[in-house]
Amino acid sequence: MSDIIQLLPDHVANQIAAGEVVQRPASVVKELMENAIDARSSEIKLLVKNAGKTLIQVIDNGVGMSSTDARMSFERHATSKIQVAEDLFNLNTKGFRGEALASIAAIAHVTLKTKTENDELGTSILIEGSDVISQEVVVTPQGTSISVKNLFFNIPARRNFLKSDTVELRHIVDEFHRVALAHPEIAFSLFHNESEMFLLPSSNYRQRIVNIFGSKTNERLVPVSENTEVMQIEGFVGKPEFARKTRSEQFFFVNKRFIKSPYLNHAVVAAFEGLLKDGYFPSYFLNLTVDPKTIDINIHPTKTEIKFDDEHTLYALLRSAVKHSLGQFNIAPVLDFEKDSNLETPYDFKNRNPVNPKVEVDRFFNPFQSETRQERSFKSTSFRSNNTKSSPWESLYAQTTDTDTLDYESNTIETIESRASNPELFEGNNLETNTFTYQLQRKYIVKPIGSGLLVVDQNRAHQRILYEKFLKYLTIKEAISQQLLFPIKLDFSNREIEIILKLKSDLQDAGFNFESIKNEEVIISGVPTRIPEAEVKAVFEQLISDFEHEVPEQNFSAADLMSKSMAFTLAIKNGQELNVTEQMHLLDSLFACKEPDVTPTGKRTFTTLDINTIEKKFA
Ligand code: ADP
Ligand code: MG
Repeated sequence: MSDIIQLLPDHVANQIAAGEVVQRPASVVKELMENAIDARSSEIKLLVKNAGKTLIQVIDNGVGMSSTDARMSFERHATSKIQVAEDLFNLNTKGFRGEALASIAAIAHVTLKTKTENDELGTSILIEGSDVISQEVVVTPQGTSISVKNLFFNIPARRNFLKSDTVELRHIVDEFHRVALAHPEIAFSLFHNESEMFLLPSSNYRQRIVNIFGSKTNERLVPVSENTEVMQIEGFVGKPEFARKTRSEQFFFVNKRFIKSPYLNHAVVAAFEGLLKDGYFPSYFLNLTVDPKTIDINIHPTKTEIKFDDEHTLYALLRSAVKHSLGQFNIAPVLDFEKDSNLETPYDFKNRNPVNPKVEVDRFFNPFQSETRQERSFKSTSFRSNNTKSSPWESLYAQTTDTDTLDYESNTIETIESRASNPELFEGNNLETNTFTYQLQRKYIVKPIGSGLLVVDQNRAHQRILYEKFLKYLTIKEAISQQLLFPIKLDFSNREIEIILKLKSDLQDAGFNFESIKNEEVIISGVPTRIPEAEVKAVFEQLISDFEHEVPEQNFSAADLMSKSMAFTLAIKNGQELNVTEQMHLLDSLFACKEPDVTPTGKRTFTTLDINTIEKKFA
């Protein structure tokens, strides 16, 4: 029998290797970016078209390659990074297998342009499916640009397996984040279909995290720093109250290489013990530095898994370092997740020390007016039914469901009760019957009270009222969603889409239903019953801008932010005329609030002009 064993031709071997190295466009992104980092670049640009299916291009300003190296770089096992096997144990580069470029070139159309510092001219090479189509001398800046087009053009099965653009782009962005987080000193940018997604200047680690995950992140980070003989730990964990429903903000880097390690993840989660609600994952951004000799990164072709010599010690160190940080920054004691949310409306206690609940002395004390509680209830109720067709802002109060009606009723009672808790304000008022209110300059509601005059800013008062209603609605009751006959389509930038995606689950809790959230477009199929359809766009815009700009507070919660944004957007504006019934209702509702004196952002809602001040004017 004749010999039948033969060596596989290179292009076949390369295609097989490509199967391991290149699973999807994001794998190419990772390999090319890592090469750019190994080339000591200070600036790396990633351009992607159609989620990488059409184009992936990485442009760097690194050392570049000579024309011989440029050609060599596409050979299998061609690497400048290790020479002997021992080098594997002292690895300071990302790459070392010398397989990436050969693999990528086997399954795509690749153009390489590169120039070293000392060369006048650079090299351009075009390769399609391992075939070198051309090699020329070109004018090109120092550094390397590699574009990869038509990935998997010769393996239709693989190409058909690619997921939707949204999914593939998500993978690309994930890889981009990982590389960018590992190297804050390098400037990175990412453009998708010519629009900018990320522009990350060279910075420190904290800034890099904030630049990627948004300004809100800054206040949520707790530094972790531990230096021991076996391992150095630097980075941040997220405060437990900002733990997420997903693992999207969990990053370990070992010697600047992103890794996945369920075991080390467990160590971090263990440090959060008792601080996290079920089903929530802590955020962490942790850089571990160990002696390269003590790890083996060779066990996985895409190099995201590594093996540590002494995992148990690392586990213990990591756990205690994180625990220590959480303790040091006083995170642990402020949390009480077991609290029954039905008992208390979570609040925004900005710049405020906790106050003991006020004692309600006389539930039926009503200094405002001399009428009985029943009469008042009746009045308010009829006000509601009489006004279904009146001014637009009232639609915010329009009670469409049974639960809402109940809510309203109990509100009336609350009104009476909580007035009693403001005795100073209404002192002496019960001596006279007084239902007089007046709207001044379509901005202030003025009302005589026992001690003088009460002046309420209508816009701010309404913000407070709506804020507390929304907050209660979002946190205590099941949000009631109203399905729309015609879904609303809203356009947003990708940055904004990112934010909406971050808030998606909270928005859903609030009663929004999404048909889709994708590139620059959100389609909403259901809205909370309290939000008029016409205001939905404004609510989203406000929400996004608040999310981006507002300085986060200690007790930041998405429900709180959304309540604030919605209250701000939907509150009656200054300039709006209010009839007497509306004025009365506004005052009633304001003083039924838990914190009537300030808006959700801490601005004063009313003031009083006491009789002495007025008398002094006549002195
Ligand atoms: P590895 O990174 O494992 O060495 P690659 O196939 O990714 O293998 O790259 C092969 C070689 O090509 C590298 O060792 C490096 O010398 C060179 N190279 C690749 N990309 C770049 C780049 N962006 N700048 C300079 N040299 C590069
Ligand atoms: Mg490489």
